[in-house]
Amino acid sequence: MAINLPNLPYAKEALAPYISANTLDFHYGKHHKAYVDNLNKLIEGTELAGKSLEEIIKIAAKDSSKTGIFNNAAQVWNHSFYWQCLKKGGGKTPSGAIAAKINAAWGSFDKFAEELKNAGMTQFGSGWSWLVLDGGQLKITKTANADTPIAHGPKPLLTIDVWEHAYYLDYQNRRPDYLAAVIQNLINWDFVNSNLG
Ligand code: MN
Repeated sequence: MAINLPNLPYAKEALAPYISANTLDFHYGKHHKAYVDNLNKLIEGTELAGKSLEEIIKIAAKDSSKTGIFNNAAQVWNHSFYWQCLKKGGGKTPSGAIAAKINAAWGSFDKFAEELKNAGMTQFGSGWSWLVLDGGQLKITKTANADTPIAHGPKPLLTIDVWEHAYYLDYQNRRPDYLAAVIQNLINWDFVNSNLG
């Protein structure tokens, strides 16, 4: 069974003006699709065909001969997760269990938001900023290129893609403006809360 490209959970216009339909056309329709297509070609006829995406990531992460498979599989997972982390009318301050946990860990939502933005800004080159649950503690982390917490143990709660393809059409080199716009306007806190369970 092949790995599928999941549907976007909203229309391509839904995240404008913060992320344009043009960006989603390329980011979802070309980049994410290419990772899915590449992965299916790489695993076809191998012992990884038929395994779940998470299993493929964990197996390939431990095998230096499978770097290409790891990169494509992790990028498939990371993008599918990232789309769900966003929604029209999202952002603002969270409610529910995640709000209490963020306040307990960082003292205020503003401090948390500043650190999440900083993780994305300081990721040199391509990568991802994350909110994860690690040993019961909330932590902000960043990963380079395709790397993903799924390969290492911490449970992802939220991610923001900081590859240039995520923002260059809308913000050119202004990664901090993209991060601020996503955090303030697009984070789907209901999805983040659901990941705590
Ligand atoms: Mn991306």
